[in-house]
Amino acid sequence: MKETLKEAKIRSRMMPGALTITGFLGTDQRPLAEIIAADEQELKKLNRSVEEIAERMKYFSNATFDAYNNTVVIDDTYEVHTESTKGTMTCPYGHGGLYRKYVTTLTNRKNNITVRWNAIDIHLIEAHHFFEGKDSPFRLEPEILVKALFS
Ligand SMILES: [Zn+2]
Repeated sequence: MKETLKEAKIRSRMMPGALTITGFLGTDQRPLAEIIAADEQELKKLNRSVEEIAERMKYFSNATFDAYNNTVVIDDTYEVHTESTKGTMTCPYGHGGLYRKYVTTLTNRKNNITVRWNAIDIHLIEAHHFFEGKDSPFRLEPEILVKALFS
């Protein structure tokens, strides 16, 4: 797949130091469309939609906001904690709007899988089907994410 000019622009905003210190792509050299297509394929196999996943992530993050120490255990299974920091983030796709800066960490007690996400990751998954590039610090491997969120 050949990268379009628009994609090249988005990709440049995803590089380390542009919108975030670590960026969104890790060591991934593939064009954006290819990264996204591969993860969409994976989701199909897992039988989960980006909407379902994003809903679940929002549900867990929201549950922590009003909880003591921003920590909560849901259904005796999901240990969820959110760390908020000052500031906001913008979408590398050039969407208007600012996203709160927080990191939610979720551990599934049944399978011991821990995943963590930024507020912006929920948007990136829901709106752009983008789970970040390979080896990016916030890369969310669809299979692992689904196991953590739904098991
Ligand atoms: Zn966006």
